[in-house]
Amino acid sequence: MTADNAIEVNNLTRDFNGFRAVDRVSFTVPRGEIFGFLGPNGAGKSTIIRMLNGLLVPTSGEGRVAGYDILRESHKIKEQVGYMSQRFSLYEDLTAEENLRFFGGVYGLSNARLQERIAEVLSLVGLTERRRDLTRTLALGLRQRLALASAMLHEPSILFLDEPTSGVDPISRRNFWDLIYAMADRGVTVLVTTHYMDEAEFCDQLVLIYQGRIIAQGQPGNLKERVTEHIIAVYPDRLGDSLEILRQVPQISDVAVFGAGLHAAAPRVEEAEKAIKEALAGADITVQRLEHIEPSLEDAFISLIQEASEDEEEGAGNQGSGK
Ligand code: ADP
Repeated sequence: MTADNAIEVNNLTRDFNGFRAVDRVSFTVPRGEIFGFLGPNGAGKSTIIRMLNGLLVPTSGEGRVAGYDILRESHKIKEQVGYMSQRFSLYEDLTAEENLRFFGGVYGLSNARLQERIAEVLSLVGLTERRRDLTRTLALGLRQRLALASAMLHEPSILFLDEPTSGVDPISRRNFWDLIYAMADRGVTVLVTTHYMDEAEFCDQLVLIYQGRIIAQGQPGNLKERVTEHIIAVYPDRLGDSLEILRQVPQISDVAVFGAGLHAAAPRVEEAEKAIKEALAGADITVQRLEHIEPSLEDAFISLIQEASEDEEEGAGNQGSGK
């Protein structure tokens, strides 16, 4: 482990009753980075974080967090990391400040130091004015800020945020990201999971996790460059019917709903555009707009997942399983 890395993980694996939830995951997080885990529900993101926090023992593999071994030194890791879990547990009938005092007690801070830190974290997350409000009266976006404040009380050098913005409105999400940037500016390393593509774009580095495996990692821009096919955005007037029709068009390798339109991926753009127009015209569907666009991160994710699934099928075929 070099001093520049906050987290190093090598072949981390976790089975639950014979089911492999995390499969030989390796990655490195440099200090001070915002490192994103992107993947659908059930991909294994929380399981990885719980292993890094010492809350769950790996089946195999190794890792270091803040320089400490995740198997042998998890007590030291707990002093160095803040963890905001998906189901963060605040006491609804305590005020914001009382919740912080309660959680601060868990970290063993002295009374004077705790008082100081409570004031600091409340100001950091913009809740000083609301500190005497009962937690249950705070909107979800504010409760999430309070949960973050509670994870920051002991001045951790690494923050694990497990879907911190799930379920909150776009403005609160944006505000929460401003806070994440503020933490990173102070030198805190942030490992954050999300399934929101717009949030993934805000990360310095991303790993894409699918079925327990890392299928790609890199800066968001580099991941987009890995899309080798052309993306054609199509805005037809009958979206559902159009999706079904375009799925049958041989010049298109994949098509998915994207906002108010469809994104079709194809190896040859002119042939594909012609085939799309013909197929939709054949069903009397009017196309409002059709354009060849730069791939988005979501296009990259879909395409990388498809590549990974194809590799797996080939691998299974080679082993003679017939699937
Ligand atoms: P994510 O955080 O990406 O949504 P999780 O890490 O929570 O995914 O889960 C990965 C997989 O492991 C899922 O299939 C989930 O059902 C399974 N899993 C997670 N925790 C347990 C557990 N304690 N016992 C059995 N299966 C589990």
